[in-house]
Amino acid sequence: MNAPRPPLKALDEALAELLSHAQPLAGIEDITTFDGDGRVLARDITSALHVPPQDNSSMDGYAVRCADVREAGVVLPVSQRIPAGASGAPLQPGSVARIFTGAPVPAGADAIVMQEECEAAGEGSVRVNAVPKPGQWIRRAGEDVTRGAVVLSKGERLAPSSLGLAASIGMSTLPVVSRPRVALFSTGDELVMPGDIAPEQMPPGAIYNSNRFFLRALLQRLGCEVTDYGIVPDQRDATLDALRDAAQQHDLILTSGGVSVGEEDHIKPAVQQLGELDLWQIAIKPGKPFAYGKIYRDQAAGARSAQDACHFAGLPGNPVSSFITFLVLVRPFLLKLQGVTDVAPPRMALPAHFDWPRADKRREFLRVRRNAAGGLELFPNQSSGVLTSAVWGDGVVDNPAGQTITKGDTVQFISFAELMG
Ligand code: AMP
Ligand code: MG
Repeated sequence: MNAPRPPLKALDEALAELLSHAQPLAGIEDITTFDGDGRVLARDITSALHVPPQDNSSMDGYAVRCADVREAGVVLPVSQRIPAGASGAPLQPGSVARIFTGAPVPAGADAIVMQEECEAAGEGSVRVNAVPKPGQWIRRAGEDVTRGAVVLSKGERLAPSSLGLAASIGMSTLPVVSRPRVALFSTGDELVMPGDIAPEQMPPGAIYNSNRFFLRALLQRLGCEVTDYGIVPDQRDATLDALRDAAQQHDLILTSGGVSVGEEDHIKPAVQQLGELDLWQIAIKPGKPFAYGKIYRDQAAGARSAQDACHFAGLPGNPVSSFITFLVLVRPFLLKLQGVTDVAPPRMALPAHFDWPRADKRREFLRVRRNAAGGLELFPNQSSGVLTSAVWGDGVVDNPAGQTITKGDTVQFISFAELMG
């Protein structure tokens, strides 16, 4: 007889509980700024200078004193030439300076006239054909960054643009949180690795291990160092050995498959034996079963403690369930381990260009795609085994429990680009 099913847990509650276990990793390393993409800053980065450092020209043209050009057509001598990288002398009253984009504006000049508005007027002189406004075409010192300002904050994930900004204030290295070390296990006797058996030779009941491929890639995108233990052998002792070993050098052990209620598998009892395990039935679709636990690193009697433990997360085996539970639960967990403060993915209110007439008791993550009209189209097969939906789709609609959707309704869209970045 089956045990009574535990009540379903709301996703927000499960996520809050899961995140309460994720204390940011203590390790910090200095990496070269070139290698910073996707890493999380361990400290605030403060600028030691103004960017730009001085007022500079945003045009090729002539630096002038507005007082000298009260009307169009004034002819003035060119007293100096200032290319980018040079620094000019103070501008003599009654003269102009030839200047190029990025070159510092000489003292005394208060505007740049672009070269298209000037013409040569004999040897060493120029006719200024437009009356300048004070400040025109001048980029002010510190208009991007002021000295002393925090330009990038602790807990921020670095993007390519952040690396450029860090470089603009002279940072050749950056302090970042260590990469989470994640051990990845697949479970299931039906699983076969692509390449091991050709499609036409697959025995009945066998399927290829697809979860291993997207989970490894998702982990790497999140900045993790992944050890792939492959498909764990279906033996109690081998499973215990593998988990015990992985717990020593990793921050998280992630498994897929074998967390359904009543399923026979070796991971669950092994985690229970080596630490603690909570099995949750989460009120989401796809997704439902999810396990969180800890494996104590020291198994000696009296030393067993959750204080020195490796995190354990068990994902459901159905590929789309595995994919979605990773994105909504494991992703924020791994970001928090790296010290990211804001782990919620941004969402957008968009019109549904489809009907979803049957409400579900669980909160649903429907695979959808944006169309050229700015609306969302639904992948026709929302089954938790149909991975095509996650490739066809460019995101999900987060649809509350009990909610039907009628074409034209505004729904909450979360893009895969945000969830997988
Ligand atoms: P489970 O959660 O182990 O009960 O598995 C649920 C379904 O997902 C079953 O149909 C499994 O065959 C399938 N499954 C489990 N693991 C994988 C995997 N790594 N790749 C593809 N399908 C899987
Ligand atoms: Mg299984």
